[in-house]
Amino acid sequence: MKEKYCENYPLWAVFLTNLVSIGIYLIGIFIILQIGIIWLVLYLIYILFLEIKLMRGHCVDCYYYGKTCAFGRGRISSLFFKKGNSKNFCNRKITWKDLIPDFLVSLIPVIIGIVLLIINFSFLVLLWVVLLIILTSAGNAFVRGKIACKYCKQRKIGCPAEKLFKKKID
Ligand code: SF4
Repeated sequence: MKEKYCENYPLWAVFLTNLVSIGIYLIGIFIILQIGIIWLVLYLIYILFLEIKLMRGHCVDCYYYGKTCAFGRGRISSLFFKKGNSKNFCNRKITWKDLIPDFLVSLIPVIIGIVLLIINFSFLVLLWVVLLIILTSAGNAFVRGKIACKYCKQRKIGCPAEKLFKKKID
């Protein structure tokens, strides 16, 4: 069957993918806020650092630089950073170790949430922890498998992250 690729993703796709990412951030923010504002500020700085690192270090080399990618970052990146070299995107080697910083965005609040539940059980915190785990696992899998990677032109050209996951998208 002929594969379909998006030149520019529709806005509803960008909305859905960001609903998952922003949902993860907001739940993380709520959980970390329980232990103090200082930790929340550090968490927000960490998220900002990762977003800038992604857009400056990866999106500039991506096919979707200046276009509407599934996450909308291709356009944002082109507003702040100069276009890179598309060869860098394909040639980059990604290992599981490289993904640890991204996993920490969810893992840190999940661990904090579990500790809070042990110290002082709350149904609200339990709900947020469960939701965070669902969004990070099933939510991300849905977004990548059904929306983002499935119609991604960069995947056809070459994507080290997609190779790492060795996921069947069709
Ligand atoms: S295949 Fe997936 S991970 Fe790779 S660039 Fe496309 S959307 Fe991003």
